[in-house]
Amino acid sequence: MSRLVMKFGGTSVGDVERIARAARLVAAERKPGRGLAVVVSAMSGETDRLVSLARGAAGEAGNGAPPPADDFNDEYDVVVAAGEQVTTGLLALALRRIGVPARSWQNWQVPIRTDDAHSKARVADIETTEIGRAIDAGEVAIVPGFQGVSGAGRVTTLGRGGSDTSAVALAAALKAERCDIYTDVDGVYTTDPRIVAKARRLEKISYEEMLEMASLGAKVLQTRSVELAFAQRVPVRVLSSFVEPGAHNPGTLVCSEEEIVEKQVVSGVAYSRDEAKVTLLGVEDHPGVAAEIFARLADANINVDMIVQAEARQPGRQNMVFTCPDRDAGRAVDAIDKVREKIGVEDIHVRRDVAKVSVIGIGMKSQVGVAKTMFAALAQKGVNIEAIATSEIKISVLIDAAYTELAVRALHTAYGLDAA
Ligand code: ADP
Ligand code: ASP
Ligand code: MG
Repeated sequence: MSRLVMKFGGTSVGDVERIARAARLVAAERKPGRGLAVVVSAMSGETDRLVSLARGAAGEAGNGAPPPADDFNDEYDVVVAAGEQVTTGLLALALRRIGVPARSWQNWQVPIRTDDAHSKARVADIETTEIGRAIDAGEVAIVPGFQGVSGAGRVTTLGRGGSDTSAVALAAALKAERCDIYTDVDGVYTTDPRIVAKARRLEKISYEEMLEMASLGAKVLQTRSVELAFAQRVPVRVLSSFVEPGAHNPGTLVCSEEEIVEKQVVSGVAYSRDEAKVTLLGVEDHPGVAAEIFARLADANINVDMIVQAEARQPGRQNMVFTCPDRDAGRAVDAIDKVREKIGVEDIHVRRDVAKVSVIGIGMKSQVGVAKTMFAALAQKGVNIEAIATSEIKISVLIDAAYTELAVRALHTAYGLDAA
């Protein structure tokens, strides 16, 4: 018996017609000896609507302060998880309409267990005995993405975009041959096709590259879903839901590096505008200062990304620059303020109009001159680099957000990624 997990994102189930088309795509994958489980997102726009209802009810609407997380996130999860439940029932009905046996499985019915980190929970364990038996008997199982049930029996959600992670987790638990992610683009592109018309669909991309692409801003797959697929070696295919069954729809296969014959130096360009740059001026320059700063940021649960340290003009002083998610910038300043006297920070500046642009490729491991090409392409367009970060397979730069699209296009061309 083989098993396949299919996932449909929000736009792919955005109305009743699209749900009917998703049902036809599911029906086309049925064959003797193969069990099917389908993970669905909420209909497009629905999760945003539910998020604002929850915030409004808690008093955040208008100029109200955000509610304290401890007192909010559990019920936020109850509200926002509701969107996916609706889609499970609708898809089951659409399948039955075309003669395919199907039923919805809510998370507590499977169950899909998570930890209790409300609004950003991690899948801990999926009980597959019953659902596995049902799909092996030929009934399609429809499961709501993005959510689970905590040890305390409460509803949890996995963070925005989390249905991808639900699908990969279910595929791993069911030992599925593959996890097919149906979305509104026909695969993973060299960069976001919405901003670069010459972006190309990739036939294959390695887990490592996809992980960097996702974490550096390409929202086509949630980062955790790629982490999980990588760890559990689940082959993932990203493909279009906007076609009828039988149409040419090869998509992109996310797979092991060994399966990729031609290793590109740069496979893709990603960008993120959700960045803020915090500069601490005239910080005392002695051992323990950086430890103090980053301990305070860690205590405040702030994810720091790039870090640059440089000598200040005054002797014995340095300037420290770091980046963090834009929404955390205010809290980062509050956290530093608490130790400002102790470490002698003279001034703090925050810039929120910055963006991170990154080039990613496994071929970089063995190639020189990759950074040179990047810096030259940006210089030629007059784009100033404010910080740099590198790993074995990526180079990221921080730039003025106004130049994001210009920089992405210039790099796409410079690395020869443009479609003919
Ligand atoms: P879904 O609702 O199906 O989960 P998402 O909106 O989360 O879909 O992800 C698909 C979107 O990701 C595309 O519409 C595209 O604009 C964006 N995207 C960003 N970078 C890339 C990329 N490199 N390749 C493909 N799509 C990308
Ligand atoms: N509906 C959820 C969201 O919009 C989860 C998902 O679509 O993956 O974030
Ligand atoms: Mg998504």
